Amino acid sequence: MNTILISRDESLKFESENDRESRSKLRGHHLICLNFFRGEGYSEDFIRNIYEVLTKKKVEIVSGPDEVCAKCPYLKDEKCASHEYTDETILVQDKKALGLLGFVPGEIVDWKMIAAIVPDILEEWKAQFCEGCGYREVCFNK
Ligand code: SF4
Repeated sequence: MNTILISRDESLKFESENDRESRSKLRGHHLICLNFFRGEGYSEDFIRNIYEVLTKKKVEIVSGPDEVCAKCPYLKDEKCASHEYTDETILVQDKKALGLLGFVPGEIVDWKMIAAIVPDILEEWKAQFCEGCGYREVCFNK
């Protein structure tokens, strides 16, 4: 996996007060995976966008492509065309993530709520989805 790294300090140059107060729109599996974001991603634009997404305190849960996908080089015709996944498998991940977290599309949550649940569901999530993921090393140092 080819990724680049941008530090949070560097990215904060792009953060505004408004961003912190507003709401991001995210799909199910990103509610779990972004807890392990370490500044790596598919492109500079993609990474900067994630830092911006993470400055927003509230999250509106959406189905399908979200604010992270919007800057992803793998988003094609509103579908995930990643070399690692199919759009179908990503949708399954979203559904499973929301089931584990106890959230539904359309719900508005915040990162504190998510962080409180993630430790309890992480082992099940890892067992099902992290094994073959290219970011496993970044998230869990292995
Ligand atoms: S790889 Fe797919 S699910 Fe992940 S951000 Fe890109 S388009 Fe979205």
